[in-house]
Amino acid sequence: MRVLAVGAHPDDIELMCAGTLAKCKKRGDEIFMSYLCNGNKGGFDVPPEELAKTRKKEAENSAKIIGAEIAGGFFPDLELFVDDDSRRKVIDLIRMARPDFVITHSPDDYMTDHTNTSRLVIDASFIATLPNYETGYPAHKLIPPVFFMENAGGVNFIPTEYVDIKDFIGTKEKMLLCHQSQYKWLLEHDKIDYVDFMKSISRFRGIQCAALYAEGFCQYRVWGRISPARLLP
Ligand SMILES: [Zn+2]
Repeated sequence: MRVLAVGAHPDDIELMCAGTLAKCKKRGDEIFMSYLCNGNKGGFDVPPEELAKTRKKEAENSAKIIGAEIAGGFFPDLELFVDDDSRRKVIDLIRMARPDFVITHSPDDYMTDHTNTSRLVIDASFIATLPNYETGYPAHKLIPPVFFMENAGGVNFIPTEYVDIKDFIGTKEKMLLCHQSQYKWLLEHDKIDYVDFMKSISRFRGIQCAALYAEGFCQYRVWGRISPARLLP
C-alpha cells in the first residue's frame, strides 16, 4: 500500500502517528511524509529563515529512519489558509504520492495550521481525482480514505481505531528526537518535554486497547471514503 501522512508542522507526524508509519513500512508499504508549514515560527532565538532550514533538515533526518519520502514546508507558519493556492499544493502532493489512504490532523485540533491542514487534505484528496481539474500531475485514481491522528495532548479525541505500536515506540522516539530544535522551544513555550508527552499519550492509548503502546485514529466517515478492509496496520 501507499500511505501519505500530512502534518501542519515538521514534527507533528512524529508526535502523533510515526509508530503507525513505521509499522506500515515493516509490512511493505511505501511511506510519504509531508508538512505544509515550514516551522519558521517554532522558536525564539533563531531567525525564521534559518529556523525553517534547520527544521527541513530535521524532518529529512526523521523520514530517513523509516525510509520515507518527504516533501513539505510550502508555507510559513500561520500563513497557511484554506485558499486556492494551498489547495493546489496539496492536490499535487496527493497526485504525486498516489496514496491508498491518508493520515492528517483532526478538524478540531488546537490551532489554525492544524485545522486548515485537515480541511485542505479532505478537500484536496477529493479534487485530486478529477482529471478536468488540472495541475502539474495527472489525476489520482482513488478518493483515498482519510484517518485523523490524535489531537495535541489527546484533548477531545476519542479514537475509533487503534494501532499497536509496542515494537515501534523506539523508532517513534528516535524520529521525534531528530527535531532537536523543538525540544527547548516546547519546554519554554508549552511547558512540555516532547518525549514524555509523546510516550504518555502512546501509553494511554495503549491502555485503552490492551497494548503497551498504541496510536489512536478516527476515520473520516463520509460516502466514498469507507473501505470494507482494514487499512491501518
Ligand atoms: Zn503542529
